[in-house]
Amino acid sequence: MDEILGQVLRNAVWERLDLLSELASRADAPSLLSVARSELPRLTEGWRALLAAHEPDERGNCPECSSRWRQQKSPCSVWRAAYEHLVAGGLAPRPPRHLRSAPPTPEPIRSRRAVAGAH
Ligand SMILES: [Zn+2]
Repeated sequence: MDEILGQVLRNAVWERLDLLSELASRADAPSLLSVARSELPRLTEGWRALLAAHEPDERGNCPECSSRWRQQKSPCSVWRAAYEHLVAGGLAPRPPRHLRSAPPTPEPIRSRRAVAGAH
């Protein structure tokens, strides 16, 4: 693939990601539901295809990230990024929005006493 085509391809992917981020933060609920139904399967399929290419071989090395001269032990950077974004941070459970913006408990001392008093 020549350099210009590579640049066009990369820009298209970045623009697509920007569009999805924009939709996630601005679209109304019905549009968001529609986008989620069409785009989430595409994103999961994309991750699956990418991760399948980076599955470790029988020696525990990533065949995509290894070269003839330098072996890359698995998990490679692609698998580490997948874990970081999909497991460690990306889909971690969060409280509902109305609870996230709630101010901290106004009387922490009293609630500590209540806990101590329960014993
Ligand atoms: Zn790899």
